[in-house]
Amino acid sequence: MSNLPESIIRPEIVALSAYHVPPAEGMIKLDAMENPYALPLILREEISQLAEDARINRYPDPSAAPLKTILKETLSIPAEMSVMLGNGSDEIIQIIALATAKPGAVLMGVDPGFAMFRIIATFCGMNYVGVPLSADFSLDLEAMLAAIDQHQPAVIFLAYPNNPSGNLFDTEAICRIIEATPGIVVVDEAYHAFADASFIEKLMEYPNLLLMRTLSKLGLAGLRLGMLVGRAEWLTQFEKLRLPYNVGILTQLIVERVLQHYDILLEQAASIKAERAILRARLATMGEVEVFPSDANFVLFRLNEASRVFQELQRHGILIKNLDGTHPLLTNCLRVTVGTPDENTQFCKTLRRILEKPL
Ligand code: PMP
Repeated sequence: MSNLPESIIRPEIVALSAYHVPPAEGMIKLDAMENPYALPLILREEISQLAEDARINRYPDPSAAPLKTILKETLSIPAEMSVMLGNGSDEIIQIIALATAKPGAVLMGVDPGFAMFRIIATFCGMNYVGVPLSADFSLDLEAMLAAIDQHQPAVIFLAYPNNPSGNLFDTEAICRIIEATPGIVVVDEAYHAFADASFIEKLMEYPNLLLMRTLSKLGLAGLRLGMLVGRAEWLTQFEKLRLPYNVGILTQLIVERVLQHYDILLEQAASIKAERAILRARLATMGEVEVFPSDANFVLFRLNEASRVFQELQRHGILIKNLDGTHPLLTNCLRVTVGTPDENTQFCKTLRRILEKPL
């Protein structure tokens, strides 16, 4: 057998595993923080028409200018700020890492945090430093400040709310981090629609702050659209690394149309928030389950024998996320995305049955 790939490919890539997405065919899918609701039929019909008329033999608008204008208006992005679009916010994380990956440069995050920060840092040749959160998943500010002092990170990514814990970090603590770091801080607001707080106003205050958003959790995961919001002086640099035509024509057209009905997405987000409260309350009544607070569209909980429970749920056709063994703070933790009322009821009923069943 040839070991040519191993001799040619960078060792840190050889050591990585490809991002694994578990099969979910026919299952109740509560593992990936998707919005469980479809768009209303009338809007889907309009989308079909857009697709029919789209000139897909041509490349899309490389600047996506009309889409950016609508996004700025709809999301109340300050006029002074620029927007860069990505094929999901994952691509934006990659662009930021590529742009800052000087030899030995550090990308800092928190642990447990969003896995892609570490993975992308690694394949872009950066050193990833994950600063442990406190046991209640709050920011350990002293540890963060000490790590900043020691590692002088080029970039710090903070998800607000955090994935997989679901909580919002303390605003004051984040501000202290922005003030203390020599590089940039990217506040990743992927779950913004389900929280009542944002750093968008702070963009004016801090020249080293950038903000990331995505439409994936709001009901448009299949279209892949993420965005970076910040000062032009940063975005003109990052734009150099954005591949031409990274946002397809159908994504541009459909998002433009759906944003004209943004209230529909917001209503769906409001239903998800209401269902989140019901789901948390139900989980809390299951004796041995510890439920963590959530400002996102998912709920983290801890229970005995989490891995066995996860497998049992899977056997019953329900897919959630097993986090047991991924980090010491996540021992026996599972994460469930808020689904439709029916899906949540199915999940709770099945979980209750599994917990009542003796080994
Ligand atoms: N940031 C966070 C915190 C996330 O949890 C996710 C998705 N799991 C993303 C970014 C990536 O989202 P997108 O679909 O826009 O690539």
